Amino acid sequence: MRGLMQDRPLLISSFLTFAAVYHKDREIVTRTVEGPIHRYTYADCERRARKLANVLKGRLGVGFGDVVGTLAWNTYRHLELWYGISGQGMVCHTINPRLFPDQIAYIVNHAEDKVLFMDLTFVPLVEKLLPRLGNVKHFVIMTDRAHMPATSIPGALCYEEIVEEASDDFVWPEFDENTASSLCYTSGTTGNPKGVLYSHRSTALHSMVANNADALGMRSSDAVLPVVPMFHANAWSIPYGAPMAGAKIVMPGAAMDGASIYELLETEGVTMTAAVPTVWLMLLQHLEKEEDRKLSTLKRVVIGGSAAPRSMIETFETKYGVSVCHAWGMTEMSPLGTLGSLKAGMDKLPIEKRLDIQCKQGRAVFCVDMKITDDHGNELPRDGVAFGHLMVRGPWIAGAYLKGDGGNILDHNGYFDTGDVATLDPEGFMQITDRAKDVIKSGGEWISSIDLENAAVGHPSVAEAAVIGVFHPKWDERPLLIVVRKPGKEVTKDEMMAFLTGKIAKWWMPDDVVFVDDLPHTATGKLLKTRLRDDFKDYKFPGVAAE
Ligand code: ADP
Repeated sequence: MRGLMQDRPLLISSFLTFAAVYHKDREIVTRTVEGPIHRYTYADCERRARKLANVLKGRLGVGFGDVVGTLAWNTYRHLELWYGISGQGMVCHTINPRLFPDQIAYIVNHAEDKVLFMDLTFVPLVEKLLPRLGNVKHFVIMTDRAHMPATSIPGALCYEEIVEEASDDFVWPEFDENTASSLCYTSGTTGNPKGVLYSHRSTALHSMVANNADALGMRSSDAVLPVVPMFHANAWSIPYGAPMAGAKIVMPGAAMDGASIYELLETEGVTMTAAVPTVWLMLLQHLEKEEDRKLSTLKRVVIGGSAAPRSMIETFETKYGVSVCHAWGMTEMSPLGTLGSLKAGMDKLPIEKRLDIQCKQGRAVFCVDMKITDDHGNELPRDGVAFGHLMVRGPWIAGAYLKGDGGNILDHNGYFDTGDVATLDPEGFMQITDRAKDVIKSGGEWISSIDLENAAVGHPSVAEAAVIGVFHPKWDERPLLIVVRKPGKEVTKDEMMAFLTGKIAKWWMPDDVVFVDDLPHTATGKLLKTRLRDDFKDYKFPGVAAE
């Protein structure tokens, strides 16, 4: 027997129309790419998204199911685009401008973008790629007439001009909730990037669950600053969840340095914010410069994308009184899979024990099935010790890549292999040990490069650290620690080794430490281990070279 409840589709337009009615005066504040702070309300945003919807459908000739690309920072205009495009059944393709230019050209063509919207910052990039973007019909520069640059982009349109002159007479259409809504490519550290195609249903379910109290937990009284870019895994769904909650949104634009973020946190009364560890390193370094710098309104910070170092979590909590929620996910998961809110009683634990838990990547949110398996697909125990391939299943997890790239990506039970290696403890907390391809295989045992890196960055003179496995005739691989010193600071190999002693298992101790000026990063700010392995392919450990 079927239930008799109304069968209403879950559609992205409803997030914004809800906010425009119930939180109409709540602000959206942006540090614009042009410089000044811009502020308006959810009601304004919804009205402009309707105008934009008319522009897309009318003047730009985009049809239902067509793909529209954005090369843009977190701003109110980008937000209008998200809703104006997806809200009427077109696909919003957020392009990561930090990808290599070749990759950007590849994905614009692969996705078949019909129109490309770009911030001023990216005009030179698009000019360079123009000869390879033959299928794009229109280019729109996201600025006003006064700031329109001289450009070689043929027929480049001015965003403010076309939006202003459009009618706001538009009714958000209803359609099947399984319709594609948005598209984001994985950064593709190996091979070409692959397209993850979200649906209205997957996005709605993800955004609702991601905003549970123990997850992002945004409320109407919150002011939320998503530093995590809208072009990187949907800004962890904050631009969707904030309107559902009626939270104020503060958009950082292109400025993500410590001083700029600090200024927005303080002047806009931000209570919750989210970003990758690199951003928080910059903020904490900025705060440290003057003793009296406080975080006077900030209550919670969500850290994910890479492992949050223990010292970072501790500093936020003990020095600045800000609670940290460690999160894990990936583009293929919309992106959130786990968040590290403490369970009953855990907040009473001594700080060292509490930090042990917070350094883990967190517990699965409702709807995400998670297990760890050995190389043969057998499930491993949830004892916090055994580690294996992290497998996930759920309604907002990719079932295939765009155009079938990568073939069948699910196992026979419908689980997706995240490529991460992890432990699961009896309380449900997951801890990433490593990326499967980065784990160091020493004498048949696995060493976590992440754990070693996190231990090394705890040293006060270390700015950044990377660990890779290097060939060893006896053990197959042994860890090599590569360190970037903080400016003006000194630390030697022996001092590093002494610092690590006792913090990690003895057999995990790196066989050597080398110092470099900087480390290579991926488009999403992660250590680019493939490049490092290449850079150090001829490296030999001291003892080994002498043999
Ligand atoms: P990209 O690969 O494009 O950088 P993703 O965000 O999809 O973007 O990357 C997902 C991967 O990032 C995960 O599979 C995992 O390896 C890593 N990751 C994400 N969050 C964390 C975290 N909190 N700790 C450790 N690794 C993380």
